[in-house]
Amino acid sequence: MAWDFETDPEFQLELDWIDGFMTEEVEPLDYLDLEPYDVRCPKRNALVKPLQQIVKERGLWACHLGPELGGPGYGQVKLALMNEILGRSKFGPIVFGCQAPDSGNSEILAHYGTAAQKERYLKPLLNNDIVSCFSMTEVQGGADPKVFTTSAVLDGDEWVINGEKWFSSHAHVASFLLLMAVTDPDAGEYRRLSTFIIPADTPGIEMVRNMPVGHHGKPGHAWLRLTNVRVPKDHLLGERGGGFVVAQTRLGGGRIHHAMRTIGQVRRAFDMMCERVLSRTTQGTLLAEKQMVQEKIADSWAEIEQFRLLVLRTAWKIDKYKDYLAVRKDIGAIKALMPKVFHDVAARALHIHGSLGVTPDMPFAEQVIESFHMGLADGPAEVHKVTVARQVLRDYEATSGKFPTRYIPHLREAAIAKYGRLLAEIEAKAA
Ligand SMILES: Cc1cc2nc3c(=O)[nH]c(=O)nc-3n(C[C@H](O)[C@H](O)[C@H](O)COP(=O)(O)OP(=O)(O)OC[C@H]3O[C@@H](n4cnc5c(N)ncnc54)[C@H](O)[C@@H]3O)c2cc1C
Repeated sequence: MAWDFETDPEFQLELDWIDGFMTEEVEPLDYLDLEPYDVRCPKRNALVKPLQQIVKERGLWACHLGPELGGPGYGQVKLALMNEILGRSKFGPIVFGCQAPDSGNSEILAHYGTAAQKERYLKPLLNNDIVSCFSMTEVQGGADPKVFTTSAVLDGDEWVINGEKWFSSHAHVASFLLLMAVTDPDAGEYRRLSTFIIPADTPGIEMVRNMPVGHHGKPGHAWLRLTNVRVPKDHLLGERGGGFVVAQTRLGGGRIHHAMRTIGQVRRAFDMMCERVLSRTTQGTLLAEKQMVQEKIADSWAEIEQFRLLVLRTAWKIDKYKDYLAVRKDIGAIKALMPKVFHDVAARALHIHGSLGVTPDMPFAEQVIESFHMGLADGPAEVHKVTVARQVLRDYEATSGKFPTRYIPHLREAAIAKYGRLLAEIEAKAA
């Protein structure tokens, strides 16, 4: 009987420490108008680096990585329990060395990189001395890599890259881009693309626009134009034509890590909603005593718990099977659920706070927009629902007859064929 929903006491002590450290030291950073990813900002570094050192000394740095890459190799369940605390603050993942997209980028550099690539790019990335950017989406469509046109052509010992990329997060502070470009236009749809490591200061990279998310965010999502950008031949990551496989390697982990952090955000909105309903009186009673408000609390609690259990079970399956492909259905379901749970709970929390809720003095409007970020980044929810449905349907077969297998008249006929004589005997004895 192996079902168990408890955290072992030893790790719970670590989680308690993380919780206190986040509250006391990390979460205040969110209110200082600093950018977590700007490793070139002296003020940010003066505050963040000492906290990162404390985390390293505690053995909690880069917990998404195994010991060979300097992490403790805790596995996904422990990472989930940590990430749901770190997700409360935009500085949390940076202080603990497991922020997106660097976490996924380091995974693929570790997996596909040559020794020289690891030395030059992976080592400083793992130490957060630099940050990186994953540049895949194009203006004409992000959800369909088949329409990508950015090209890379081999010219002697160099690749020459031309095209445009859209919503390349953190490109303005990144030291290098991991960029997908078409190297083999005539190959099959999953063999056209390759992944390149491109130092951000390579001539020919122009930032057309750097966009914020929502009205209050800082610009951080770049529209890039690449004109005759040249990188050495050895800056291909993985094999030629293997871009799709490389991207899938990082996206599996990236999607569930977003979900783990989202739990932290949603719980924060829920806690605030509960505090509010116990604090505000209208028409003679607390909001908490009104049934339509109670419905919002009950629905939110149940939706968060369902989502969290699915995330934790998926994390457990990843630890068990050590294969993201074996959990595609689970990750797809999480990815599709995440924006809905986040949106619905944040929107209820906003509404329960009345006029105050819609102002930037509370985090809810930003959270609602952020829920759409979670619904788009790493592919829109619809695409993941398609994956889930396809995977689910693999376990089913069409019926060969005219009627469904569980057509009741047929089932009744079969039951009578099986038990009819026995029933008749019982009836005869009783008569
Ligand atoms: C905040 C943020 C950060 C991002 N960071 C990065 C990054 O760092 N690097 C990067 O490369 N990209 C990044 N993206 C881009 C992201 O991956 C794309 O937004 C996503 O893949 C969708 O592509 P699109 O925006 O072109 O929308 P489209 O592909 O035009 O899709 C628009 C809408 O059409 C619908 N749709 C699309 N496909 C289907 C389908 N098959 N079935 C049914 N409906 C469908 C969906 O409703 C979808 O939202 C980021 C996006 C956001 C919002």
